Amino acid sequence: MGISIQVVQKNGWDQVNYVGPIDAEAEVHLSQLYPKLGGQIVFNFKNVSSVNSCGVRSWINFMRDLQKTQRTVVFEECTGEIVMQINMIPSFKGTANIRSVYGSFVCDKCGHEEDVLFEAGKNLPATPDQGLTPVRCPQCKAEMQLEEMEEEYFAFLAA
Ligand SMILES: [Zn+2]
Repeated sequence: MGISIQVVQKNGWDQVNYVGPIDAEAEVHLSQLYPKLGGQIVFNFKNVSSVNSCGVRSWINFMRDLQKTQRTVVFEECTGEIVMQINMIPSFKGTANIRSVYGSFVCDKCGHEEDVLFEAGKNLPATPDQGLTPVRCPQCKAEMQLEEMEEEYFAFLAA
């Protein structure tokens, strides 16, 4: 599975859809992407399949280049793997604003699993320990649990 990156211009923003892994191949793709980007950029991570350490290094360099040139950067639909990177390595996020992240929920009662999108200004908490709006299981209506420790998963909100 290779990498493909689509850029769509929308209301003065460059919407970047990254499809595939952030791995050793990412560097070439990101350097080709760089000259196509304007001052306001939204990265959508929904279709990032995996992230490895080689890719992380390329991504951090890419973010540094964007910061040097004062771009406004937004991350949206960050998957669990991206959230982990953001929490472990602050420079993965740099100065980007997080618009939305997915959280994996599981129902203790019936075992149903569901990815819930948390959006800033809506259901994304303002701080890691604020507490989440209860998520009901669509199958049995019991309250579902986040698979990760809530305060650890949302640690990036403290920054
Ligand atoms: Zn259930």
